[in-house]
Amino acid sequence: MSTNWNMIAKLAWQCDCADSGCPVHIGTSQCSDPGTSHVYRVDMEDRDGTQVCEACANDALESGLFREE
Ligand SMILES: [Zn+2]
Ligand SMILES: [Zn+2]
Repeated sequence: MSTNWNMIAKLAWQCDCADSGCPVHIGTSQCSDPGTSHVYRVDMEDRDGTQVCEACANDALESGLFREE
């Protein structure tokens, strides 16, 4: 077996972008970059926000579905 558990384990500091159509990590629904930014949904109450990397944050903000605070 050569399962790479690093691809499965979700680390606390990792980007939490779950957008499979995100151009930052094409072809996979999980980004492996460090989550250094927080973005918040605009269409619902979102107190905790989502921890994402800078590239995913930019894409999320551009989509208009997220705001920075
Ligand atoms: Zn990311
Ligand atoms: Zn992303």
